[in-house]
Amino acid sequence: MIELKNVTKKYGKQFALKDASLSLSPGKIYGITGPNGSGKSTMLKLIAGLVYPDSGTVSVGNDPAARSMSKSIAYLTELDMFYEPFRVKDAVYYYESQFADFQLDQAFDLLKEMKIDGEQKIRNLSKGNRGRLKLTLTLARKAPVVLLDEPLSGLDPLVRESIVKSLISYLDLEKQTVLIATHEINEIEQILDEVIVVLNGRIEDKRNVEELREEFGVSLLQWFKTFLKDK
Ligand code: ADP
Ligand code: MG
Repeated sequence: MIELKNVTKKYGKQFALKDASLSLSPGKIYGITGPNGSGKSTMLKLIAGLVYPDSGTVSVGNDPAARSMSKSIAYLTELDMFYEPFRVKDAVYYYESQFADFQLDQAFDLLKEMKIDGEQKIRNLSKGNRGRLKLTLTLARKAPVVLLDEPLSGLDPLVRESIVKSLISYLDLEKQTVLIATHEINEIEQILDEVIVVLNGRIEDKRNVEELREEFGVSLLQWFKTFLKDK
């Protein structure tokens, strides 16, 4: 479904990804984790076709990744870019006008669940509510590929658990492949099928989370900490 073959991406002289190869199957939730600066966001941008590899190939379905595929990729970016004078509901209607797969009813259900008032001006939203609005707009799309870059950033630790629960209930794993980049792996560990570890631009490991728990008898976070210590 999604494939990276020997992908290297540099920004100037700085390597963001080095010779990364990866194959992701449909219907699963993948987590990409690793310390800040390891290349997680770059990997998502490559899949979304927003940046191109210096060498190697990235494909989604049968096609090379390209910006024109945004109609089939729901992408929550690390950026916070809203049209500030809009009300929340204007942003929702704008997304509906842009994406054929956008589910208006689900968007308003999500807003209710996230306790965001549709009449509020975006410029008056708190940081946490901006994060929730970003998630709402992304999750209301039923795209075959969902890319979430640090979806919990800016959210209060107390609400993260309930947000992760709504996350899973709005995904349709019969039809969607989900890739979540996060440095806070413990927050989403319960919903992941597979975890991919990147360090300094290299893919160091890829594991089935359930097998990992059985094999090591520890949580994903504990395993990850031991993994980093051995590096
Ligand atoms: P992560 O998401 O894991 O924190 P990134 O993919 O954002 O990592 O970054 C990987 C590396 O590439 C870092 O060293 C970062 O500084 C560099 N990098 C990312 N984006 C840019 C950019 N637009 N210009 C220059 N360097 C960048
Ligand atoms: Mg990042």
